[in-house]
Amino acid sequence: MSDLRELYQEVILDHNRSPRNFGPLEGADLHADGHNPLCGDKLRVAVKVDAGIVSDIRFEGSGCAISKASASLMTEGIKGKTLDDVRTLFDRFHRLVTDRTAPPDDNLGKLRVFAGVRDYPARVKCAILAWHTLLAAVDDNQDPVSTE
Ligand code: ZN
Repeated sequence: MSDLRELYQEVILDHNRSPRNFGPLEGADLHADGHNPLCGDKLRVAVKVDAGIVSDIRFEGSGCAISKASASLMTEGIKGKTLDDVRTLFDRFHRLVTDRTAPPDDNLGKLRVFAGVRDYPARVKCAILAWHTLLAAVDDNQDPVSTE
């Protein structure tokens, strides 16, 4: 998989090795399950919401380095945000990983490390899986999420 090597930047490797906010979330208000059949990534995202703000978020499951690192960085970026912010960040992240003409987006912070997946359509689904799953959770959509 040498074509992926340039994607595996240090941040992604680090979050794959030691994912942040990984494991079950006791007393979660919302959760959703996501599956990317193309790669085999399976994630559950669980959220605690306090007065419209994500007070805690954790994920569990298994998947490739990109799906895990993306979920890990997402949880870091989402904690403390409002549910409206979650939707805005989803849109920004979606644009980052799918739109080659998108200008650099400073609002995304560390999430920008995923810009490289634009060039690998199969990997876009790995990177976006956690986000689709998060969106289903905050929309309280109980249907399992699939990237297919
Ligand atoms: Zn994957």
